Amino acid sequence: MLDITHLPRVQTPYYIYDTALLARTLDAIKAETCTHDHWHVHYAVKANAHPDILRQIAAAGFGADCVSFGEVQAALDAGFPASEIVFAGVGKADWEIRKALKADIAMFNVESLEELEVIHEIATLLNTRARVSFRINPDVGAHTLAHITTGKAENKFGIAKEDMVRVVREAQQMARIDFTGLHFHIGSQLLEMDDFVALCTRINELQDELEAAGLHADNINVGGGLGIDYEAPDTHPVPDFKAYFQTFAAGLRLRAGQQLHFELGRSVVAQMGSLITRVLYVKHGTSKHFVIVDAGFTDLIRPAFYGAYHKVENLSAASRTASQEATEENIYDVVGPICESSDVFVTDYALPATRRGDLIALRSAGAYGEIMASRYNCRELPKGYLME
Ligand SMILES: *Cc1c(COP(=O)(O)O)cnc(C)c1O
Repeated sequence: MLDITHLPRVQTPYYIYDTALLARTLDAIKAETCTHDHWHVHYAVKANAHPDILRQIAAAGFGADCVSFGEVQAALDAGFPASEIVFAGVGKADWEIRKALKADIAMFNVESLEELEVIHEIATLLNTRARVSFRINPDVGAHTLAHITTGKAENKFGIAKEDMVRVVREAQQMARIDFTGLHFHIGSQLLEMDDFVALCTRINELQDELEAAGLHADNINVGGGLGIDYEAPDTHPVPDFKAYFQTFAAGLRLRAGQQLHFELGRSVVAQMGSLITRVLYVKHGTSKHFVIVDAGFTDLIRPAFYGAYHKVENLSAASRTASQEATEENIYDVVGPICESSDVFVTDYALPATRRGDLIALRSAGAYGEIMASRYNCRELPKGYLME
């Protein structure tokens, strides 16, 4: 349970970030990777781009994985070195490519031949060179929500693996393009290491194919996707980075001198964040009890968007229980105030008897939470605060 005494007295809803847990998480990643000189961990900025969080991750020595120029700029502003910034995304606009070239980022992760041609054209106009890796669609399934699997053949992401050699050859014909490697990303919230084993096997096959064609990749980028325990954030505050990194150490056959890149988002920041919201009304319907809170899907969209689960805690009831007041449990739907039926956080959920004014925490909300907030219904964007 989140400790209510560590919360700021500010207007709800808001996000609270436990920077001590973030530091522990970053240390756990470093402990697994620091002995490998040729490994690079890039934080996927799209998971959480709060400036203080970005600065802490940059200061810990990580690189950044960006999917827009806005993210590249946020990463640069937070102190990530340009030489450790990679830029992916199926639809990079010309102005984004131009600015990223001028910023001299490490490389573009290119997702189509059409994009490669545009990058080449812009690099030529700017009289510079572009370092590119190709995002190859490995066509491996991942055990996760249908909306967040990205490495199947039918997904929009990446270049078909059958086209890899042809596209690398095309790149080598382009005067202003430096082909630097292969990039993969199979999905998110993956908890079965078998998915990453399958990715390693596929990368090994593709590397053999590349080698047979007389080609060489300096960089292999395996993307991100490691999941976290949404059910038990206090039992598993730090994800199993040992299992994750060892899967790649054991499964990948890297070539001499090859650099290995990881792009972790959710697993770095999810557990350190909670959305704090206040109960507006406890409404007794004909067959259900509703806890209506002041946060909605405009503040945390994952339940409405992906059917995702966030553990709900009544922090005020917990402190009442601590003061010996008996509390029975009730079964509630916890819902937001937005004018959409999908604005529901949990249904048929057991909570201590809940009252107007109680503070509620939605746990494990540090990733894809604040950053996905919208102003629908002309609502204020939630702010993010650091825990004392
Ligand atoms: C979203 C994304 C990541 C991070 O994924 P997580 O599941 O948050 O670790 C990494 N690489 C790319 C290309 C992405 O789009």
